[in-house]
Order: sequence, then structure tokens, then C-alpha cells
Amino acid sequence: MRFSQSFIRTSKEEPADAEIISHKLLMRAGLVRKLASGIYIIMPLANLVIKKIENIIRSEMNAACAQEVIMPCILPANLWKETGRWEVYGSEMLKIKDRAEREYCFGPTHEEVITDLVRHEVRSYKQLPVTLYQIQTKFRDEIRPRFGLMRAREFTMKDAYSFDISAEGLDINYKKMHAAYCNIFKRCGVKYTVVDADTGAIGGSSSHEFMVIAPSGEDAIVYCDSCRYSANVEKASTQIDKIIGPEIPAGSSAAASRPKVEKIHTPNASTIEDLAKFLKVDKKSLCKILFFTNGRAENDGREDVVALISGAFELNEIKLKNHLKFINLEMIPSEEVQKRVGAYPGFGGPIGINPNVKIIADNSVKHLSDFVVGANEKDYHLKNVNLSDFSVTSFADLVMVDAGHPCPQCGAKLEKARGIEVGHIFKLGTKYSEALGAKYIDEAGQENPIIMGCYGIGVGRTMQAAVEQNNDQDGICWPMPIAPFHVILVLLNSSDETQKQCAEDLYKKMLAENIEVLFDDRAEKPGFKFKDADLLGIPIRVAVGRYAAEGKVEFKRRNSKDLKVIGVDEVVSLVKSEISREINGL
Ligand code: ATP
Ligand code: MG
Repeated sequence: MRFSQSFIRTSKEEPADAEIISHKLLMRAGLVRKLASGIYIIMPLANLVIKKIENIIRSEMNAACAQEVIMPCILPANLWKETGRWEVYGSEMLKIKDRAEREYCFGPTHEEVITDLVRHEVRSYKQLPVTLYQIQTKFRDEIRPRFGLMRAREFTMKDAYSFDISAEGLDINYKKMHAAYCNIFKRCGVKYTVVDADTGAIGGSSSHEFMVIAPSGEDAIVYCDSCRYSANVEKASTQIDKIIGPEIPAGSSAAASRPKVEKIHTPNASTIEDLAKFLKVDKKSLCKILFFTNGRAENDGREDVVALISGAFELNEIKLKNHLKFINLEMIPSEEVQKRVGAYPGFGGPIGINPNVKIIADNSVKHLSDFVVGANEKDYHLKNVNLSDFSVTSFADLVMVDAGHPCPQCGAKLEKARGIEVGHIFKLGTKYSEALGAKYIDEAGQENPIIMGCYGIGVGRTMQAAVEQNNDQDGICWPMPIAPFHVILVLLNSSDETQKQCAEDLYKKMLAENIEVLFDDRAEKPGFKFKDADLLGIPIRVAVGRYAAEGKVEFKRRNSKDLKVIGVDEVVSLVKSEISREINGL
């Protein structure tokens, strides 16, 4: 393509609302344009990148025996009501009505639709296993759309769904998809890691996320260099006893020899830090209390709960939300805690609170004896408290794992990093097939629910993650396999006939060799063109300048400072070999 005829518009200006480098670069390089909050136009250069990513995805999905379909993006409400997700999905789902007042949503994901399709098409075990996928537009009314295509409201996702007759079959398909995803991200040229993940609103038994490691990533992950354990902090666990000592055997706290619960005056010690300092004890011997609710109105199923955890840890709200199976989890406003829970914020404890409020305790509380809790009275705490002094509704792992905590598998210290979730695979099991009655008849003539898996990749997010990971102070440095063009051919002086002729010849030759080349034939200054070439991040730059008279051109890689002057007749074969090494040799 000739730059002079293209719709590419670059800019020096830093866009005002872009916080992270990839968003800034997407805007400055003219790759996307914002239409509304979280809604973007994909411009021609970005479209070339997106199509390459989609084709890599397609080839790996097809190789894994998945078949491509296209489902609608406007989805009837009744299917979502059948699975209960019309309510559960919450306000991320954009609900709409047609002229006859029938309800629909703009699909945020397609489990319901694909399961509906399969329940109508599949009867017998002979038709299974099958895996279907699509690459299609989703809409999620994200509470905080930001970072451009990273967290958009309208975005393109590849979503695949597998259907099996057994758990073993699902295992096989899950492994196939896991391998296909590794190939996809490797072929896209991004550095990624796979982590154990939470299943969120989609549901199911186990899942993995594919993370592009980048400091701006919205997800925190922990990993172990010794045994390769890695997990999203939403899901990660640790070895509590290594931090706060062994679990206290149940019943032992009731022993007569235990000291009695005693009220102590702790003026102004309303935080764990202040209290530990005041009592001159380690934080781990204190028990924190936090007040949560499902956020519903008092007369509409409101549930208030308290969560307990050793002062050594922070509480992981996602784990608590999953444990409670709440659609929504929020803190009770502190001014309402006393009235709703019967506890005094800052000096709260589980003893004597409103009996309708569930007490959920982190497993770390089982490791505490003779600990300190709030007395539910200003400036007072209780000491020598044990689990036998109040009744816990349920125990769960609620710990927010952090760097330095012991690895749950091998005990080595965990490291922490940030990642961008570009892909997510789930073992769904029978959650959707049971809700929608998607069954098959087995060899013995029995009806069984179909066993499902689902597998998603954010296409636009993958493109932007590649930019987040591959850039420098001058602009983007596209990995070769997804670069919009492989080569930018820069004519330095368009009024010099020799240079012009040489560049025109080279352009034709490259096109004839099927090299994806952007020809900067504009009548602009060399410095201006080089700046654009760097900003756009095309992996190879061939410049035709003063050496043209000697039959030579300048060859430079975007991610290197080296500049080679080489013969015009050599440059095409050099370009071809670099491209094929980086695309096929990856
Ligand atoms: P997140 O936790 O980032 O909201 P998610 O767990 O909701 O993601 P999934 O439902 O697993 O996402 O969707 C599959 C993939 O779709 C994600 O791995 C991600 O790459 C992409 N994706 C999800 N939400 C968005 C969004 N708002 N903008 C762009 N891509 C998205
Ligand atoms: Mg989400």
C-alpha cells in the first residue's frame, strides 16, 4: 500500500484519556478511534493486525478439530432465563427490547445459545464429541471501560465450546484447547504465562487463564520459580501453617485450663496495626472482622455476613463472593454496621452479634488460639478468645495471597507479577446442559447431560497486549507474525528522480514477491517519515536515500539500532528470509 493513498493518520499528541502506553500508541498510530465510552472503530492498520490474529486463531482451532459457526449477537431473553443468568449476569448485560416489547440482550458470551443449538441438533453419543467456535462481537456494559481495547464494552472474542459424553472426553478436549492456546499466543509473538484461575460468572469446575505479562496488567498473578505453580491471586492459595503455625485441633480450646475471655481497654486502637502495636503482639494473633452484604434491599433478599481472618492476612473478596455464591458482594457502609450486624466498626468481633448474620471464617482462624477480637464496644477488645466462644457458619479459604507467601505446592516463596488476561479456558461440566436439557442417548439407551467446556480469547485485547509488551520510546515494535505490514519502504527524497525510480522499482519487486509492504512515498521530510515508521512499528525498514545512486539502500530492524547499507538486488531476499524466519521459525 502507498502511504500517500492510505487512511493512516498519525499524531504526536498524547491522547488525554489514555493511561497506559499501548492505549496511547494505538491512538497516536491511528489504529483505533473512539466512538463512545468503551466503543471503538478499528482503523485499516489495526484491521490488518486483527485479521492476522484471527487467522492464527482460526488455523489453530481448525487444527484442534473445532468447527467455525457464527451465532447472532442479539440473543433472546428466554434462554438466559432458563439458565438463571438473565438475573445473575448483572448490569454488564445490555438488555434491549424489540418493537413488540420482546426482551433480548446483546450477547456478552454465548453458552446459552450454543447449548440451545446442541440440544436441538444432538441426540446420540455417536454425534459427540464436537467442538464449535466463532469469532464475533460481544457487548459487556463494563462498569469501568478503560485502556482502549483492553477493557472495551464492545469487543471481538473468539469463543469455543466443546461437547463430550464423559469427563475423560472433556479432559482431552480441554488439553487440546490448552495446547492450541499456547500455539496461538506463541505464534502471535507475545510472551505469556498460563495460570490457575477463578471461574467467575461463567461457572464450572476448573479454569486457566492465559496472561500476557505486563506491569500495566489489571490482573495480579503469583508464581513459583521452584515448582512452576502459578495462579491468579483471585484463586491462589498458600500454606497458612507456614505463616501462623499449625491448626489448633478442634475442641482443644474448650479445655478448662484455658484462660477466661477478658475485656481489655484499647483506646483508639481501631486498626489491626494500631492494636498490634498497643498490645505489643504480632498481627497474626489478632482476628480481623469485615462486614459484607449482597447489596439487596432489606425486604428483597438482603443477606449481611461477617468475615473473620487472622490479622496476618488480607481478605480476598472474590473468594468470599464465590464461597457465598453471591451475585454481588459489597461492604456494609460503616454507619450501618451497628444497626444491621450489632458490631461496632473498628472494635468489632463475632461475639454477641445479631444471630441472623452468618459468620464466615477464613481457615487461618482455625490456627489461632487465645486470640483478640473486638468487644463491639468503642475502645474495647476481648482477649483469650477461641473458636468455642462463638459459632462459625462456615470456614473457607479467603486469603489474599501475596509475594513472599509460601507456594501451596512446594513451600518456596511466591513471586508476584501483573498480567493481561488474553485467554480463558473453563471446564464447565453439566452446568448449562442440565439447565437447558442438552442430553445425549448413550450406548445403553440412557439419557445423560452433555459435558461441556468453553474457551475464550479477546482478539482486540490480544492486539493491544502485544503493543503493551512490544514498544519503546519511539512507538510500537510489532512482532512479525501480527505486524500490519512486514516492511516499510521509505523514499527519503521524493523530488530526487534516482531515489524515486529506485524506490518505485523496489516497491514493485516486493509486491511481486508477495511481501507485505507499506511504501512511504509521501513528499515529506526524511525525519518526519522515520518518526512515523517508528511509531507504526513495522518490523523492517528499507530506506531509499542518497545511496540509491550507487544501487544501495538502508536496511534497519525496528527493534535494533544497527543500520546496514546493502545492494538493492540483495535487499528483497534479506527481507524475505527475515520474515520467514520470524513467522515460521517462531
Ligand atoms: P476480565 O476478568 O478481564 O473481565 P473475563 O474473565 O470477564 O475477563 P471471559 O468471560 O473469560 O473474560 O472472556 C474471554 C476473553 O475475552 C478474556 O480472556 C479477554 O481476553 C476477553 N475480554 C473479556 N472482557 C473484555 C473486555 N471488556 N474488553 C476486551 N476483551 C475482553
Ligand atoms: Mg469480565
